[in-house]
Amino acid sequence: NAFLAEGHKLIVDALDNGWDVRQLIVSKNAAQETPVEKLISRCVASGIDILLVSNRILTSLTRRDNPQMVCAVVGRQFGADDDILAHSEGTWVALDRVRDPGNLGTIVRTADALGARGVIFIGDTTDPFATEAVRATMGSIFAVPLYAMSEEAFCALASRFSGKVVGTHLAGSVDFRVPAYEDGPTILLMGNEQAGLTENLVQACDHLVRIPQAGSADSLNLAIATAICLFHARAHALPAESTGEA
Ligand code: SAM
Repeated sequence: NAFLAEGHKLIVDALDNGWDVRQLIVSKNAAQETPVEKLISRCVASGIDILLVSNRILTSLTRRDNPQMVCAVVGRQFGADDDILAHSEGTWVALDRVRDPGNLGTIVRTADALGARGVIFIGDTTDPFATEAVRATMGSIFAVPLYAMSEEAFCALASRFSGKVVGTHLAGSVDFRVPAYEDGPTILLMGNEQAGLTENLVQACDHLVRIPQAGSADSLNLAIATAICLFHARAHALPAESTGEA
């Protein structure tokens, strides 16, 4: 019921966000370096176990030839499904049976950057706490609430959700820019990399939207399609950047 977070930044992110860091594993060669020393002091002050190991052991733990100098064992954490029903605005991303840990991590990172309220994993997904997925989140795994539920539980939640469930589908009849995302809460529902959305999930949607495409590609990569739709859904809430023009 725990996973490995690698590197100084990720471990600081875990501590800053109040995650259950259970053990800090440090290379003996790095224990005297200032940032690592500071991290060790912070962990000791919080009663966290410290384990000093050789580089060979770190290499074997992380399955990397050039491992990070520190890693940590962190307890897994999922939000309660009912939290999603408690909000009157905001955007969640829901992923139907996502298979690729790189896609999963990239989507969690994008959800963090664009201010989504959380990421919901539906059905039999790849493990969000697998090392490759955690690496791809670049620390956002600790900042974005994660939820995991069966397809049946998601459909039940969707029927009680006060906002819109916007499903993305290659056969969607509506352009993805049409729904009024700023108007109440939204769940943006994304399909599996190979099969798209199941029929039950299609039925749970209020809108089925499509991103227009040119050229010969059948579809967009899942993480890219999520980023395009989520950016649009969140645009009203993102800070406006200056154009630099006088
Ligand atoms: N063969 C799958 C199908 O027929 O649905 C393709 C799945 S696509 C690689 C993965 C997911 O990305 C889709 O289920 C959808 O959620 C999203 N997606 C990709 N391109 C899209 C587009 N042009 N419009 C809407 N959603 C898209």
